[in-house]
Amino acid sequence: MPIVIEWENREATARGVCDQCGARIADAADGLALWEERDATAIGRRELFMTHRACFEAFRGYRMSCTVGDWMKRDLQWFLDTLARDTSATSGS
Ligand SMILES: [Zn+2]
Repeated sequence: MPIVIEWENREATARGVCDQCGARIADAADGLALWEERDATAIGRRELFMTHRACFEAFRGYRMSCTVGDWMKRDLQWFLDTLARDTSATSGS
């Protein structure tokens, strides 16, 4: 579950969490967005995962032992930019 809500100082904050080590991904430059790809030509949705860059190989190694497809990765910043465009997000609260 890469995106969670975490309470801190009586405020709810959206956080990106590493699916390998469980720690917060505090810097988008240090994160990857991942999904399993069985058929890149198939239309449809894929489940999102996130890891720190340093955690990716361990995540992939474990997941490859129990999944069929390969693991695609993109910079976390790519994911955030794509999501912002897709939701017409603007900054602010
Ligand atoms: Zn990690």
